[in-house]
Amino acid sequence: MLVINDLCARIDDTEILKGLTLTVNPGDVHAIMGPNGSGKSTLSKVLCGHPDYEVTSGSVSFNGVDILEMEPDERALEGLFMAFQYPVEVPGVNNEEFLRLALNSRRKHNDQPEIEPAEFKELIKERLALVEMQGHLLSRALNHGFSGGEKKRNEILQMAILDPKLSILDETDSGLDIDALKRVSHAVNVLKRSDNASIVITHYQRLLEYIVPDVVHVMMDGKIVETGDKSLALKLEEQGYDWLTQSA
Ligand code: ADP
Ligand code: MG
Repeated sequence: MLVINDLCARIDDTEILKGLTLTVNPGDVHAIMGPNGSGKSTLSKVLCGHPDYEVTSGSVSFNGVDILEMEPDERALEGLFMAFQYPVEVPGVNNEEFLRLALNSRRKHNDQPEIEPAEFKELIKERLALVEMQGHLLSRALNHGFSGGEKKRNEILQMAILDPKLSILDETDSGLDIDALKRVSHAVNVLKRSDNASIVITHYQRLLEYIVPDVVHVMMDGKIVETGDKSLALKLEEQGYDWLTQSA
């Protein structure tokens, strides 16, 4: 589904991604861990097409399509979704309208008719229950004045409505209390299918007690330096990252 080969990217004159290689197959949940500043958020932003980052070499293919030349909205229409580490407040854009228009854009892209209002109401109701989010947040402006936890849940609600092929969750666990963490993880697990995939970026092994990853990677200094199964996350929890720095 996603094939990243030897990707290098920079912001201004600073090289951040230094030859990153990663393959994600349909049905897989990958976790990316790594110390602060190792480039995890940079990777997710480069995948989504953030304009501040310049890809200097390497390739990214998503379902066989080279996405590096595509605009962020085109990537989203192809089924790429990102839950931001720091979701942006968008005053003046109604949350529910935003969800409906985003969903309809994807449906149109897939040659499907617009969703009927009644059907949309039903979908929203079901997905709100899945993420245990309060309905009144739908009538507010997108993320505007939301608490940290409400923003994170709203990101997962977007994911649950848009039904992406590949979801990238950038530290969705940070700022969540334990109940919210369990709920968000539950939603991610429920939405997992054999034809979609997720990349879960996290600092803490705690999230991975609830979202069980198929593959765990460690990122350091702009590259993947170690790959394993979920036992790797446990090892990191016990031993930190020092042993990797030394072996690197
Ligand atoms: P992570 O998500 O793993 O904590 P980031 O991808 O956010 O790491 O950051 C990777 C590195 O890129 C950090 O050292 C950060 O300081 C640097 N960085 C981010 N933005 C800029 C910028 N505008 N100019 C220079 N360096 C930046
Ligand atoms: Mg980050």
